[in-house]
Parts: sequence; C-alpha cells; structure tokens
Amino acid sequence: MGKGFFQVPIAVNETVKSYAPGSTEREAVTNQYTSYYNGSVDVPMYIGNQEIRTGNTKNMAPPHDHQHVVGQYHIGDKTHVKDAIKTALNSRKSWSQMPWEQRAAIFLKAAELVAGPYRAKINAATMIAQSKTIHQAEIDAACEYIDFLRFNVEFMTQIYDEQPDSAEGIWNRIEYRPLEGFVYAITPFNFTAIAGNLPASAAMMGNVVVWKPSDHQIFSAKVLMDIFKEAGLPDGVINMIYGDPVMITDTVLSSSDFAGIHFTGSTFVFKEIWKKIGENIHNYKTYPKIVGETGGKDFIIAHPSANAKQVATGITRGAFEFQGQKCSAASRVYLPKSLAEETLNYVKEDIASFKMGSPEDMSNFITAVIHEGSFDKLAKYIDAARVDSDAEIIAGGGYDKTKGYFVEPTVILTSNPSYSTMCTELFGPVVTVYVYNDEKWFETLELVDTTSEYALTGAVFSTDRHAITEATKALENCAGNFYINDKPTGAVVGQQPFGGARASGTNDKAGSAQNLLRWVSPRLIKETFVSPEDYRYPFLS
Ligand code: NAD
Repeated sequence: MGKGFFQVPIAVNETVKSYAPGSTEREAVTNQYTSYYNGSVDVPMYIGNQEIRTGNTKNMAPPHDHQHVVGQYHIGDKTHVKDAIKTALNSRKSWSQMPWEQRAAIFLKAAELVAGPYRAKINAATMIAQSKTIHQAEIDAACEYIDFLRFNVEFMTQIYDEQPDSAEGIWNRIEYRPLEGFVYAITPFNFTAIAGNLPASAAMMGNVVVWKPSDHQIFSAKVLMDIFKEAGLPDGVINMIYGDPVMITDTVLSSSDFAGIHFTGSTFVFKEIWKKIGENIHNYKTYPKIVGETGGKDFIIAHPSANAKQVATGITRGAFEFQGQKCSAASRVYLPKSLAEETLNYVKEDIASFKMGSPEDMSNFITAVIHEGSFDKLAKYIDAARVDSDAEIIAGGGYDKTKGYFVEPTVILTSNPSYSTMCTELFGPVVTVYVYNDEKWFETLELVDTTSEYALTGAVFSTDRHAITEATKALENCAGNFYINDKPTGAVVGQQPFGGARASGTNDKAGSAQNLLRWVSPRLIKETFVSPEDYRYPFLS
C-alpha cells in the first residue's frame, strides 16, 4: 500500500497541434493515414489476455469511401459476453486492491502515449473510421482524450482527499471503494475520446469493465485498446466485445453482478436500457449506477443587439464542423428580423467557401456522414423541406452517396417554430433557422425553452447585458452547457465539464469529479481509540 501522500502531476490541457503544411505532425499523420488506408487490419475482441477471432466478421470501410475496405472485426455471441463478464469479475480482486497511485500511473502513461508515439495513429484511425478532418481528429482523439486521462487522475485524488472531520478520541475516514460487480460501457461513434473515457474513467476508480464500442468506431477503438495494453493496464480490467447491441446488452443486464452503466449515445436507446435495468432490478446484488449522456437539439439565439458576423461564425462552426455530428452541434437558430438577412448572408458566404471531400485532402472542411442510415435520414428531411410550405432550403440541400456519404451543409429557413427539424435531432450538417420579430424577444426565449425535449447545449449572442441576463435566467433548464457569445460546441475537459439534462442525459458531467463519483461506493470507517466499558450514561446516575 501507499507509503506517502503522493501528488499527481498538475493536469494541463494538451496543446492542439496545427498540422500546417510542412509541419512534422502533418507528415506523420499523412504517412499513418496512407499506411492504414492501404493496409488491412484484423480486429479481434479482447477478453482478458485473449484476442478472440470468431471468423464471423464484418468489414470496416471509411464513410468517405464506403467501398474501400480497411479491415474487419470479429463478432461475438452470448458466450463471449458471458466470458467477458466472468473475466472482468475474475480480474476485480487484484485490480480493486491495486494502490491508487499505480492505477494513476497507468492512465498517466496512456496520456503520454497518446500525446507522443500514438498521436498519429489515433488521429489517422479517427480520420478513417469516423471521417474526421485532421483538426477534428486532433481536438477529439488526441487532445480531449489526453485531457480526460490527465484531469481524471487529478479529480480522483481530489475525491480521495475529501475526508470527514473527526471528534476527539475517534478517527473517521472514507474509503472510495469501486463498485461491487462490473461496469458496462457503451460508447457512440462520434468521439474517440468518449469511447476511451467511458471505460477508462470507471477503471481508473478501481472498477472492471465490459466495453461495447459502436460498430462505426471499431477501427479507432482498436488503437485505444493497444494504448491501454501498452500503458500496462492489466488484462481483464477492460474487455472489449462486439456484436448485436441488443443481445450484448440483454446478456449484460441479466447478470446479477451488473453494477453500473456508463453510456453515451442516443436518447431512445438509453431509455430502453434504463427500462430493462428496471425490469431486472430484483436480480442485482447492488443498485446499479446509471449514467447516460444522450441526444441534443442545441440552439443559438441572437438578440437584436448581437454582432451579425459573430452569430454567423457561431452558426457555421457550431452547426457544420464534423458534419454536425456532435451532440452539442447547433441545429436550431433563432434570429431577430433586424439581423437575419445580414447573418444569413454571412453564413451562405461561409458555406460557399467550404470544401467537401476526403479528410486525406486537408483543405476539406466537410467530409462524409457516418453511415448510410444517417445519410438516408438526412436526405429524407432535406427532401421534405424542399416541398413543405413552411420550410425553404436557403443553402446546400445536395447529397450524394456514390463514393462516400456526402451531405452538403444545409440551412433550412422555416416560418414554423415547431417545424420537424426545429425539434428532432438529425445529427448531421443541417441547421434550421426561425426568424422572430425583434419585439418578441421574451416570447422567443419561451419558445427556445419549450420546443425540444432535450437540454444539452445552447448559446445566446448579445452585446446587451440585460438581454444576456434575461436569456441566462429564461433558459436555465434548457441547456446543461450554456454559452454566451460563443458557439455551443467545443467543451474542453477541466474547463467546461460537459452534460445535459431533460432527455439529454443524467448530467453527470464527463471530465469532472462528479462523473468519477458515480463509479465509487464510499465506505465510512469510524475508529474509536479508547472504547467505553460501561453502558451507563452519566444522566442515569
Ligand atoms: P447510438 O445510440 O446509435 O449508439 C450508441 C451506442 O449504443 C453504440 O455502441 C450502439 O451500438 C449502441 N446501441 C445501439 N442500439 C442499442 C440498443 N438497442 N441496445 C443497446 N445498445 C445499443 O448513437 P450513435 O449514433 O453512436 O451516436 C450519436 C448519438 O449519441 C446522438 O444522439 C448524440 O447526441 C449522442 N451523443 C451524446 C453525447 C453527450 O455527451 N450527450 C456525446 C456524444 C454523442
């Protein structure tokens, strides 16, 4: 056990590299991209020290070139899920007993591996698997992931440091025990950092994990697994499996040792999982922790006092970077009549300047959406907007899936504040704008608050402090992350802990101590130094 009160290195945010032409990082990631692109990787499941290859495989192809196979992954069945649970539980004893500074060292080492030798790999894999531009890959797979690892180690020590007072003659202490059982991590396609963080944050607190990544992120998930292994994470602490998500989840949730779920993904899926946990509640040895960060319908509202160019940039970056496939992406915008034309002209100019294509060509700002299902869904909403009388497409609107799943950045203007694309999460490069009369500022705030079931992110643009105050108050419950004069995307670990309420999740704030607290079950230990030897209190005499 520890023989010192160790201080961990002070966490600082990783600097985002520029990838400017001629830079060494650009050359490294380009070479890695080419090597992955022309290679063929065979991705097994990882259960304990075993690499499981079932022979039942699925191909992996980049969304921007869907006929080009870059490898395959092996799909498991129920027996593999059960093996993963058993292996995790077998590893629990030694892992949960490992001194915290040793656990910390593993994840700090993982951060340094990502920052150094694995940076080009994790970025190139994310460019290929999820069609991210190099900048989007760098801020996600490299920087955000490094930040999660470093800051969470610091938050872990802050939690351990939180101890009760002790009255005279006694000593109270709290041990932050890992959960009794295993944690199930289900991760989405859109952030490699989230994919790594959901299993890692639970494991860092001493838990063992069964991890099911998204089918559309496995190419970069494999690199995450390589990093865990090289960092020295003992076999069996994080076990990665693939297959039918419903089968895997049903099998996991039927285990009496299921102790918690760390989920990020869509709202419907999370609600279904919560329901199943409820149905199984009598089978569990402990009440499972349920943490889920889910969908969003994130807004920008501009006050008449706002600067049109700033609002336009907020829309352009907030709605279209990574093809709008961020849970925080701006997808509904409220502009005052006095500012609408100027703002939308700037947005149209920006869109006209975008280049769309493969992330390999680093001059492209927009690449493909993740898969055919997403492409078809977006095309359907765009087609509807073309014919609906209360909607008009004022920019973009084109789509083509011949080579990759390309959807043009699209702006829909609607006269109906409840138009379908003002309420439904589309998760693509489509933003809908509603223009309000300047004098209807307060009514519009009310509209923003009541239009969608979600409450993830939102932004107000204004130069008037009264208006900012009014928006901050009126929109208190409709965004877990609220931005003033900034786009609603781009939360940085350690600076803007992330999460939303209502249908957007349990708001346990990824990248904060609050999240880590969900993965422990504190034990209070009271020690009395001189124990009483007579039951009689003085008042009895
Ligand atoms: P998704 O819900 O389709 O998939 C997420 C994960 O759940 C994947 O691993 C998937 O295989 C699994 N899954 C799918 N159906 C399942 C089922 N019936 N039972 C069990 N597991 C199932 O989401 P996605 O397309 O990967 O990601 C996009 C969604 O994630 C969006 O809704 C987005 O808003 C949300 N998201 C939220 C946050 C946040 O912090 N709030 C962050 C990123 C993404």
